[in-house]
Amino acid sequence: TVNGREKIPCEVCIFAPGHSARDTFEMLSGKELIMQPKAFAFGVRIEHPQSMIDMSQYGRLSGEELGPAAYKLTGKASDGRGVYSFCMCPGGYVVNASSEEGRLAVNGMSYSGRDSANANSALIVTVSPEDYVGYAPQGTKESLTGIEFQRNLERAAFEKGRGRIPQQLYGDFMTGTVSSSYGEFASCTKGETSFADLNEILPEFACRDIGEGIRSFGRKIRGFDRADAILSGVESRSSSPVRIVRDENCVSSIDGFYPCGEGAGYAGGIVSAAMDGLRCAEAIIKRYRKLD
Ligand SMILES: Cc1cc2nc3c(=O)[nH]c(=O)nc-3n(C[C@H](O)[C@H](O)[C@H](O)COP(=O)(O)OP(=O)(O)OC[C@H]3O[C@@H](n4cnc5c(N)ncnc54)[C@H](O)[C@@H]3O)c2cc1C
Repeated sequence: TVNGREKIPCEVCIFAPGHSARDTFEMLSGKELIMQPKAFAFGVRIEHPQSMIDMSQYGRLSGEELGPAAYKLTGKASDGRGVYSFCMCPGGYVVNASSEEGRLAVNGMSYSGRDSANANSALIVTVSPEDYVGYAPQGTKESLTGIEFQRNLERAAFEKGRGRIPQQLYGDFMTGTVSSSYGEFASCTKGETSFADLNEILPEFACRDIGEGIRSFGRKIRGFDRADAILSGVESRSSSPVRIVRDENCVSSIDGFYPCGEGAGYAGGIVSAAMDGLRCAEAIIKRYRKLD
């Protein structure tokens, strides 16, 4: 049944709702479908002048022939947790990508020209079900504890930012001070912003790991740890906190039901979601006709 309205009889159904279909996950958690909480990553988005990234990566400004420089950074915090950049957007914007009332989440994007003044990237730490299960209200179904963890973060971000994207300069983040103005460059955002202390939004371990990560990435990209780098909260939707279990033929615990893509927990990003779509399509073809 589609959205409780239309009934479409079928032998096979590909289910690819994306990772923000929380209402659907809640509805499915009461059915005989096997779902599990899974590890994901969360944190903040960080902005720098694109010219600074270009200088560090190219040793010169990009010019037309090179295009704005990208980066990919990975590290390990002192507690062993992975901390890394994700979805880096050269010449991009930080986007208010909230999907629920009273909650706020950010993401990033670039227009095809990649021509804003800033580079931005998610700066995130890994979190496992053991880490977040304690944050869910009592009585939450185990499979939905990651969603409740995300919701807590997004609610705090909405409240501390008073409905706007909460931001803080990196130097102030490290001292727990609410910033009063931008430094040498301003933020490029789609959505309104306000200054807040991100330490009051993210769990302590995440703040410590993100701080350590930025400091160490400053040794890889000159200026990455500059005090006026702009942090925006909260980056909570880097991938799905839920996995719908499926077998080697991509079938879930309900025969004919094919969980697929990012929301089902089998992809992270556009290309891997598309590849998983192909994988499911091939599995369905094989169901009816042997492939060579
Ligand atoms: C602002 C932003 C920027 C991003 N930038 C990048 C990037 O640069 N590179 C990258 O690789 N990834 C990026 N991503 C992530 C990327 O969009 C996702 O990883 C990808 O789209 C996942 O594909 P999917 O098909 O699994 O799910 P989705 O693309 O989320 O598709 C799910 C679809 O299901 C629909 N749906 C859900 N519930 C229902 C329902 N009940 N009834 C009917 N329809 C329903 C949704 O409306 C949606 O159309 C970005 C995401 C955002 C939000």
